[in-house]
Amino acid sequence: MILILLGAPGVGKGTQGALISKEYNIPQISTGDILRNEVKNETELGKKAKVYMDKGELVPDDIIIGMMENRIKQDDCKNGFILDGFPRTVAQAEAFDEMLKKNGLELHRVLLIDVPEEEIIERLTGRRVCPNCGAVYHIKNNPPKKEGICDKCGSELVQRDDDKEEVVRNRLEVYKKNTMPLIDYYTKTSKLVKIDGTGEIGEIFERIKKVL
Ligand code: AMP
Repeated sequence: MILILLGAPGVGKGTQGALISKEYNIPQISTGDILRNEVKNETELGKKAKVYMDKGELVPDDIIIGMMENRIKQDDCKNGFILDGFPRTVAQAEAFDEMLKKNGLELHRVLLIDVPEEEIIERLTGRRVCPNCGAVYHIKNNPPKKEGICDKCGSELVQRDDDKEEVVRNRLEVYKKNTMPLIDYYTKTSKLVKIDGTGEIGEIFERIKKVL
């Protein structure tokens, strides 16, 4: 099963991707997570990507496409995978179609998760992450037991640089301009299904399971 999670930043692609991954036993591939890891390890790729990421801009297509070509060839992808944060431009979607064709694979579904813009801004600017274990919190909706401290490992929580309000607004503009055209692109293939992304995490997951 090959799935794409589509939607603006902050609609819950990462959260739902993790649940789908567990339920169907296929890996979740998040380009954002791969890139953040490269930045953390100060690799050449990470250094290049950071310049764009800090501003909420997209990393150039050729870098992302090369990275994904390598990733989906890994052994753990042989029964399928879930893409979270890729493709994000029409050029990436076309390149992905080529990758699938070359490997004799077929895309199963594109899940478009839909959340109103004001709620997205609140979700993202209130998000706090653990730099040590990756746990994700929200100051209002999912606060840690002790303010600012990770429940799981005790590290101090941080706000992602690109979750600052100004950068969030830019990320949403970038989404509208570059990624929204993918809604049309995948509607034409009849693979796109719209999912209401508001409400409880479990409720949203139930909606997704019904579709799959
Ligand atoms: P995310 O965690 O998915 O919001 O990604 C964080 C940042 O990584 C984005 O704002 C982009 O700068 C970069 N990024 C992630 N995925 C892609 C992609 N498919 N194409 C271009 N840039 C990306």
